[in-house]
Amino acid sequence: MKTLKILTFMLMVLAAGAAQADKVNVVASIPDLGVMAERIGGNRIDLTVLASGREDLHGVPARPSFIPKLHKADLLLTLGLDAEHSWLPALAAEARNPRIREDREGWIEVFEGVTLEDVPEVISRAEGMQHVEGNPHINIGPQNGRIMAENIAYALMEFDPGSEEYYAANLDAYAAELDALAASLKERGQALQGHTVISYHADISYLARFYGFEVIGTLEPKPGIEPTARHLARLVREAKEKGVCLVIHNQAQPAKLPGKMAGRVDARAVMIGNMVGAVSGVDTWQELQEHNLRVLLEGLDH
Ligand SMILES: [Zn+2]
Repeated sequence: MKTLKILTFMLMVLAAGAAQADKVNVVASIPDLGVMAERIGGNRIDLTVLASGREDLHGVPARPSFIPKLHKADLLLTLGLDAEHSWLPALAAEARNPRIREDREGWIEVFEGVTLEDVPEVISRAEGMQHVEGNPHINIGPQNGRIMAENIAYALMEFDPGSEEYYAANLDAYAAELDALAASLKERGQALQGHTVISYHADISYLARFYGFEVIGTLEPKPGIEPTARHLARLVREAKEKGVCLVIHNQAQPAKLPGKMAGRVDARAVMIGNMVGAVSGVDTWQELQEHNLRVLLEGLDH
């Protein structure tokens, strides 16, 4: 009997060891995808997040320290739509891990299923280098959280079918939270409806769609192109005509120009977060959405 107990114990230790070794190595391009993967993958994944959250989504520094993390990744979670175009595909190609190269089975794009904004009629880099396939800033839109989470869950289920039920249960619980959050945000954000705004970069299209306000122009003439005096002069005229009330920028963009623009058109400059970790206290995707709504409503109040 004693031998049997020892044997059972040894088997349990071995099984625990195997489970440990079996964890799915998940690398997330930005913290939004990391926090979602954590909620769905729980103790079944080992997670690494590349961007800090304070950076510009299109311009995350390609640190060499990312490469060993990518080397052992089973899944690389990305927003897709070329959001990480300037830094991630090259790093993924450099890691000795063909699985997670762009367009391979381990390179996961979470935008699949999102109703896209700003899809150009003709795909051309002449329209700026950053948004050629449609607006990639899906993570800022409260309407997109559930779809992003579902795509992460499906990727985990496919890679690790043995834990499918675990992922499905975690997704159900998380999706219910996200649905409740979206309904509550919409209710509390009604005051934003019908207003006109300017943004620094074309990164708030999903936010505008969700709350029902209109982005009449951007300080950048095209995504990723530096503002010019001529473009700004035209924008000032249009902003005055349309009664713009907010000039919206994020923590990774220069604050001086939005402030100056707001002064010229009698609007308020407000700073939202462009991803989880953008400012202190924004550590979950829900907190990002709450933060952005609070900032927008405070801007209207003034
Ligand atoms: Zn962009």
